[in-house]
Amino acid sequence: MPDTESPASQPIQRTVATDEVVQLCSELIRFESVNTGDPDTIGDGEAQTARYIQQKLEDVGYETIYIESAPGRGNVVCRLEGADRVRGALLIHGHVDVVPADASEWTVHPFSGAVQDGYVWGRGAVDMKDMVAMTLAVAREFKSSGIVPPRDVIFAFVSDEEAGGTWGAQWLVDFYPELFADATEAISEVGGFSITLDDARRAYLVAAAEKGVAWAHLKATGRAGHGSMINDDNAVTRIANAVSRLGSYDFPLTMTATVRSFLDKIHELTGLEFPEDDLAGSIAKLGPVSRIVNATLRNTATPTMLKAGYKANVIPSTAEATVDCRVLPGSEEHFREQIAEIVGDGIEITWTWQPPLEVPFEGPLVEAMKDALTAEDPGAHPVPYMLSGGTDNKAFARLGIAGYGFSPLRLPPELDFASLFHGVDERVPVESLTFGTRVLDRLLRNC
Ligand SMILES: [Zn+2]
Repeated sequence: MPDTESPASQPIQRTVATDEVVQLCSELIRFESVNTGDPDTIGDGEAQTARYIQQKLEDVGYETIYIESAPGRGNVVCRLEGADRVRGALLIHGHVDVVPADASEWTVHPFSGAVQDGYVWGRGAVDMKDMVAMTLAVAREFKSSGIVPPRDVIFAFVSDEEAGGTWGAQWLVDFYPELFADATEAISEVGGFSITLDDARRAYLVAAAEKGVAWAHLKATGRAGHGSMINDDNAVTRIANAVSRLGSYDFPLTMTATVRSFLDKIHELTGLEFPEDDLAGSIAKLGPVSRIVNATLRNTATPTMLKAGYKANVIPSTAEATVDCRVLPGSEEHFREQIAEIVGDGIEITWTWQPPLEVPFEGPLVEAMKDALTAEDPGAHPVPYMLSGGTDNKAFARLGIAGYGFSPLRLPPELDFASLFHGVDERVPVESLTFGTRVLDRLLRNC
């Protein structure tokens, strides 16, 4: 990483939290809290991780609540009282589960938590035991040093994010909403990481929007019969046509407020032009992050599952398909109508729907995030962006909580950060962890 600190930059602030964050991250990775999404193969890794976090919080004096939504699905919540108890609380949430990892593909064992070559290695290092460790380190420091934030801060460590939060954030929102009743805003994954613009400047991408996750379950019905007969009411033909039309549909470019302000800000910083007729091409010049941005330019509908028939010479009366749709903020109603129109008559659609999010990139909390970043990195330029996937912020949004992706990391320019999510050799730079801990420390003193 080039050393570009100006003489005016703040001196490195060494704290108890920065001293212990690396060890916390490494220890968290050693719990195999793998979430396969299949209740039969999930062990108690999430519960073990949550219990470890609970212990670390109680060691410094927090009163915690530990809740299992189902055996092995642990969740921990606690609260740090602020100076102004009337103001709405800030929620910091992080998931303790990780996706599976095949050890044979890795340079180090994915659950070793090895600290070597300047990195902490292992599954969860960037998604998202890094942020869990930074949050835990700062929570511990504030409590043990008696530091009082300006308002209440709620810490929540939850299971099951990698499978939609059914047994984690969504479950807590359904059954324990009172724990978060006074929270107005939240921070969590995925955002706050840097992209190097040049030696002196880095853009920090803060998530201010998320695409919605909308699974369309299609069901065609027709006339059952013998496969040898002429049948112009065949459910298999009907579903195949519908899936084919959806899968090859060219959804139009749709500019949302967040993507517009991302492109404007990047233009301001780099001079790059983003002409509408070559948006994807010009965005590609941004490097690996272009994969994320390109996915936020339009709605998508991707067929993923088909189910029909049970014998070669029997025409079934029904045929089904699932289409994984991702929806931009502001276009939900229109999108449903559009899908119904594309699939055509004779197809029943039921939706599994997690709505998109878009929150303002302004206001005191956003200013506090920006200030915390620029205090630690004078070359920081915070930029809002939209996440193409979903996070637990969607669950907490059901309680009216405005969620941001802010897990601050100053990254070395050569690191392809996006590829580390769910990737082989997932790892996080030690310096990024201590940087992020200092940023969070500043944010919480000023939130
Ligand atoms: Zn995650």
